[in-house]
Amino acid sequence: MTTNRTFTMLKPDSIEKGNIGAILEKINAAGFRIVAMKLTQMTENDAKAFYAVHNERPFFGELVEYMTRGPIVAAILEKSNAVDDFRALIGATNPEDAAEGTIRKLFATSISENAVHGSDSDENAAIEGAFHFAGREMF
Ligand code: ADP
Ligand code: MG
Repeated sequence: MTTNRTFTMLKPDSIEKGNIGAILEKINAAGFRIVAMKLTQMTENDAKAFYAVHNERPFFGELVEYMTRGPIVAAILEKSNAVDDFRALIGATNPEDAAEGTIRKLFATSISENAVHGSDSDENAAIEGAFHFAGREMF
């Protein structure tokens, strides 16, 4: 079985609502190993770079403001089929469309304030992990 990695952020709303522990419990129960983890806060430039693919979208300004308004938990996670399995665990972008039991169904507020990030490909997982962590912070 090949294991691989994904990148996640518990977004500012999750920290504000005191949901770090509950979300990490779901991630742990789903069989992900923590490779790297920290509490950090993105600057405006960080968020604009991280979400550059969305810079033409009407919600881009709102997204940058949301993602920079307070600390996040950034983490790299390892598991077989990590990217797809983590996307399944978090559920659809809009919590109204997310399946029962998914992290977004349980903890998200809205389509914009949706509790967690999950990388959408192996390539982006590597880019996003390297955006937040130095090699010596990965275990
Ligand atoms: P995902 O995080 O599920 O991969 P996207 O990559 O499409 O979703 O969007 C990135 C983030 O931008 C979402 O997680 C959410 O915080 C925000 N977002 C996406 N679509 C909307 C929208 N229609 N209105 C407001 N915010 C949005
Ligand atoms: Mg995305």
